[in-house]
Amino acid sequence: MFGEIVKGLYTTLKHLFQPPVTVQYPEIKRPVRNRFKGRHELKRYENGLEKCIGCALCAAACPADAIFVEASENSDEKRFSPGERYASTYEINMMRCIFCGYCEDACPTQAIVLEKSYELSFYDRASAIYTKEMLIVDVPVNGRSTPQVVEPGIFNRAIPEMEDPK
Ligand code: SF4
Ligand code: SF4
Repeated sequence: MFGEIVKGLYTTLKHLFQPPVTVQYPEIKRPVRNRFKGRHELKRYENGLEKCIGCALCAAACPADAIFVEASENSDEKRFSPGERYASTYEINMMRCIFCGYCEDACPTQAIVLEKSYELSFYDRASAIYTKEMLIVDVPVNGRSTPQVVEPGIFNRAIPEMEDPK
């Protein structure tokens, strides 16, 4: 009995002077690994145009049926992305998502990327639906917000190899 108490105290003392393995989350956040797959982001080109062309390949690839995409037509007066179409609606149901990354792999324009954020708590089911407005990144410093007015014939390809002339 006494031996067990001494053994317990020894174990406690041994760990007392070791650095803690816990952190004071949420004040302190541990960096994640390079290959960590967290909250999705919808990316933009440097000129501000959206990379997503509304093709819905990500939705087709998703094993959890978590993505909903609705596409609409671009025009030179109201251009959101290169090519013919853009995602007028883009939603991910985070309650369904299993963070497999298949959507990222399937995307032909590298528009959807699983980034490092893991703070995805919500209080009700409706809040688990992440909309395009929540997912899309800010406009780059030298870019313009969408929709843009562009010269006719520019950006008529789905994946632009040209730079924005402006
Ligand atoms: S990470 Fe996987 S489960 Fe989540 S939206 Fe993408 S394909 Fe679907
Ligand atoms: S994120 Fe990529 S795969 Fe999904 S609709 Fe947009 S362009 Fe297509």
